[in-house]
Amino acid sequence: MSGPAELDIPLDRPGRIFGAMRLPWSHDESAYGQIVIPVIVINGAPGPTLLATAGVHGDEYEGQVALSDLARDIEPSSLRGRLIIVPAANAPAAAIGRRTSPIDGGNLARVFPGHGDGTPTTQIAEGITRLLLPAADFVIDMHSGGRTLEYMPCAWARLPADKHLRARTLDALIAFGAPDAGVVAKPQAIGTFLSAAQSAGKVAISTELGGAGTLTPYSLSVAREGIARFLGFAGLTVPKPIPKQVRLLAVEPRHFVRSPGRGLFEPATSLGQSVAAGDIAGRLHDIERPDRAPETIRFEAPGIVMCRRVPARTEAGDVVAHLGQPSTREALL
Ligand SMILES: [Zn+2]
Repeated sequence: MSGPAELDIPLDRPGRIFGAMRLPWSHDESAYGQIVIPVIVINGAPGPTLLATAGVHGDEYEGQVALSDLARDIEPSSLRGRLIIVPAANAPAAAIGRRTSPIDGGNLARVFPGHGDGTPTTQIAEGITRLLLPAADFVIDMHSGGRTLEYMPCAWARLPADKHLRARTLDALIAFGAPDAGVVAKPQAIGTFLSAAQSAGKVAISTELGGAGTLTPYSLSVAREGIARFLGFAGLTVPKPIPKQVRLLAVEPRHFVRSPGRGLFEPATSLGQSVAAGDIAGRLHDIERPDRAPETIRFEAPGIVMCRRVPARTEAGDVVAHLGQPSTREALL
């Protein structure tokens, strides 16, 4: 596996070093241009390596801010191990606050492990997979709802098939310490960084930290406290106490509610609300046809409302809400 991405800093120099992963990008405004993706490496005493990424989707800001703060603030002398931080993995998308790349339309969370001879977005994935992932023992890839979704701020993970890695992943989710953790037992999305990290045997978790195209003091506090606890879990810092009440919410395809058509969605529930199967999720209004009654949309399953669509305007197939079903570590193992 090889591609054009290069790292302009060593991974093993003691202390803190700011650098970048660079890829050639020749375009109208820059014949010999580059895509520059900041990478910060912080080496303390010998120990495990944690790779922390954000900005895989450029419109998900919580992780980008929390990891940039961490990169500047954490003292190398406080670490037993190495921290590799990539605050804006899809830098072109992050630069304009969009989910996908303005260069090639690529969704970085669908193209891992990447292709060295592919589009720029697939080359970014290949660079992260080849240059950074092999060094890592632990991975956290911080996502949120972005511009179109809002989540209850939570930890998030897909569960790998391997029994031991599955148990460690659940422990890591709980150690992150957010009040809720979404667990995908049968992953649908392929090509995520998490799937690549788990395929490589890493203990890897993600997050869904709010979203709605903004930042809140609460979503950022969940991000900052969670990453600090995850550092402790990974052994890089003195472990912090884990909150006793971490609710595991199993997320399955039947928990997703989609709009049947174009219209304005009027939600009937709020984030965190408990619903039963058949409860009304909301109504879809056809503003062009005021003579028609709005269409009632219902939940197919019981659960807790974890996520909602932000823009009221929807198209057919848009997810307007999704649930999670309270579960236990034992049931999910
Ligand atoms: Zn995302």
